[in-house]
Amino acid sequence: MLAVVAHPDDESFGLGAVLAHLVARGVSVSLVCFTHGEASTLGTDATGGSDLGTRRAAELRQAADQLGLDGVTLLDYPDGGLPAVPDAELDAHVEARLGQLAAVRPREPAALVAFERAGVTGHLDHRAATAAAWRVATRHGLPLLEWTVSPEVAHALNAELGTRFTSFGPGASPCALHVDRSVQARAVACHVSQASGNAVLARRLELQGAVELVRWLPPAGHDAP
Ligand SMILES: [Zn+2]
Repeated sequence: MLAVVAHPDDESFGLGAVLAHLVARGVSVSLVCFTHGEASTLGTDATGGSDLGTRRAAELRQAADQLGLDGVTLLDYPDGGLPAVPDAELDAHVEARLGQLAAVRPREPAALVAFERAGVTGHLDHRAATAAAWRVATRHGLPLLEWTVSPEVAHALNAELGTRFTSFGPGASPCALHVDRSVQARAVACHVSQASGNAVLARRLELQGAVELVRWLPPAGHDAP
């Protein structure tokens, strides 16, 4: 499977438990991440003068090792600027990685995994990353696994913390994965610049408990696998 995200930490804070669940069941998971996350308001006081994007790139590599990912393609588009990047340019990176995977594992079916299309937190970069995954999945006839939180969790976070979380859009009902969060916790801890003092993350994981909700989006005209 190929996970497609916008920022370093999306793969851990968001998809971490799902990716660990897949890896533990023998699925090879690779990652495309479009930005270095340099625009984050977290971690800016602890970089010791070093560049936040560089620091976050290193954090991503460590987190990917914890999650057991088979490869990371880290791109350098501007954090916050993905909606301005031409669709074809974003898609080409996803397709290039899929091509590499197909060359290594020609007989194994491929699928993509990404944040739900509304972006989960409302971040426009998240929507752009998922849109690229969706276009590529549709073009190549591949299923896409989308992840977000339940309506109850989104509502609670937004009411308590003033966030803009969204749940699943119209369509099929999501299915619940009962997950072990221990691997995710180790991956989250690698993102030192973003994890410490992150009240939203801590509360979300508390509200989610041991359950993640995911939904297969089949290519247009196909039934769900
Ligand atoms: Zn993000």
